Amino acid sequence: MQLNIQTLINEPEVEFDETVEVDLKDANLGSEQTTYPARVYGKITRLGNNYIVRGAVDTTVKLICGRCLDEVDYNIHANLFNEFSSDLTYCEDEVILVKGTIIDLSDSILEAILLELPFGFVCNEDCLGICKVCGTNRNIDQCDCNQSVIDLRLEQFKDIFSEV
Ligand SMILES: [Zn+2]
Ligand SMILES: [Zn+2]
Repeated sequence: MQLNIQTLINEPEVEFDETVEVDLKDANLGSEQTTYPARVYGKITRLGNNYIVRGAVDTTVKLICGRCLDEVDYNIHANLFNEFSSDLTYCEDEVILVKGTIIDLSDSILEAILLELPFGFVCNEDCLGICKVCGTNRNIDQCDCNQSVIDLRLEQFKDIFSEV
């Protein structure tokens, strides 16, 4: 997503509100769907040669539950805060160089979303997961397997079920 900062020559601040496609293929979320629409909104403020972007990213991604392997919609609201500058000498640490009159927010948007992704996602705190003995989704069906005794030969399959 690119913002043209030409209008900021006359104004100290401009607002933006756009919907962009975000590609989360590299995040390996486990779902077949890898691109998601995201609403990106906020404002950009000019301070001399520097530009402060403040806003948010709203999107809904599909995540796989680590226990039952179900695919669930997961809402993300990520804060967007980035500093840009057209002055190369100022571009250290977190400040990103502006090329011409364009501020490219693509990396910032992706980064903001990735930061909000949960680690070890479960569809529900009470998710019963998949039976390690017979493979039944225990949220849907009950089975009579003894959960405390896992045959050693089945132990090797345990990883398959816990793999996301
Ligand atoms: Zn689950
Ligand atoms: Zn079972």
